[in-house]
Amino acid sequence: MKIKIIVGLILFSIISFGTYQLFLGESSSVSSAQSQVTHLDKLDPDRVDWKSKTNNYWESVLTPKQYGVCRMGGTELPFTGEYNRYYEKGIYRCSSCGLALFSSDAKYNSYTGWPSFWEPINSGDVGLRPDKSYGMSRTEVVCPRCGAHLGHVFDDGPEPTGKRYCINSVCLLHDKGVEKVKIDNEILINSELSRD
Ligand SMILES: [Zn+2]
Repeated sequence: MKIKIIVGLILFSIISFGTYQLFLGESSSVSSAQSQVTHLDKLDPDRVDWKSKTNNYWESVLTPKQYGVCRMGGTELPFTGEYNRYYEKGIYRCSSCGLALFSSDAKYNSYTGWPSFWEPINSGDVGLRPDKSYGMSRTEVVCPRCGAHLGHVFDDGPEPTGKRYCINSVCLLHDKGVEKVKIDNEILINSELSRD
């Protein structure tokens, strides 16, 4: 009888420890996405003339990966981005200038290996321009405030828009602290409303 109890206790300890490790692993991967310290923390992003910033500036404040993708028009490898399989609530900001671009409400798994959204927060929150590079005819998505390359948009997305905004993770920063409300097709950010 005693042996059964001891074996039971050992098994319980092993299972508990395994669950604890799993919990730690999950929470650390989530918190790492939310606790990034960037150049945006040192200034008020809404008061900066982002269009005047030079390549030297971007190279000095962004990570090499961010610079290569967001400023040089590169593409991160599929299935490697931090937000590819990340579904926390909140909004996604431009990692270069902090502008709110996409909401978690419009994020879905496209199985392409990149974070995908069926619409931006507002249609004016992303810029679109033709991209004929690599012998393909695509539509590039850029940040309208700082000109960062974000990704491309395709016509094979889900309803209600049928669009797939295929965005590089390194061009985004998830902001869990901002919830959004939708009023008559206009989306307003709560934190901006409270400033008035
Ligand atoms: Zn930007």
